[in-house]
Amino acid sequence: MKTDPIESIPALDGIPRIAAGFVGRIPGLDVSVERAEAMSRLAMPHRDILRRAGLGSYPMATAEQIHGNEVYILSDRSELHAKGADGFVTTIRGVTLGIYVADCAPVWVVARDGSAGALLHSGKKGTQLGIVPEGIRILCSMMSLVPQDLIAVIGPCIRPPCYEVDFAAQIRSQAHAEGVMEIHDEMTCTACEPGRYYSYRREHGLTGRMLATLTLLP
Ligand SMILES: [Zn+2]
Repeated sequence: MKTDPIESIPALDGIPRIAAGFVGRIPGLDVSVERAEAMSRLAMPHRDILRRAGLGSYPMATAEQIHGNEVYILSDRSELHAKGADGFVTTIRGVTLGIYVADCAPVWVVARDGSAGALLHSGKKGTQLGIVPEGIRILCSMMSLVPQDLIAVIGPCIRPPCYEVDFAAQIRSQAHAEGVMEIHDEMTCTACEPGRYYSYRREHGLTGRMLATLTLLP
């Protein structure tokens, strides 16, 4: 029986040497508390889930996540916290990129050959500020890729009618405008599925965070 609350990202399954995942609600864990305490309660279950998913030996890079549009270029395994940033671009293998969300969208942008990837935190504000286009531009300029080489995936996030702004649709338009031809969105709404996901809005701010991950495997 598979009880791990980690979802694979089917649209990225065919890409060589990468692992992408999404850790949803942890069954039975009380996280109806302030953010810092919720994060502390989630730390060990998240570590355990990543270990069981075969990712236990890789360090995890985290971002400060201030709802901005700064994308951190992870170029060294020693720089594992991205201050002031809301996403990463990397070609470094053997590091897991981690983004925490509860209604904002996690967005994976990955090269078809598995050579580079970005993981971005794009809620209402980050979308307005264009963090996804920024990540796409950095991937292309730094990694000698063209947008047609990329696959973008929009993960679970809050959507109309649960939220008044359809930022997932805006992200799709933005990625398309940058020239990315393959954009996947399973249209999953975090507020509609309380058994699977945390929702900041539905739970009035006292809830946990899901963990989106992207690892370029060694
Ligand atoms: Zn909904």
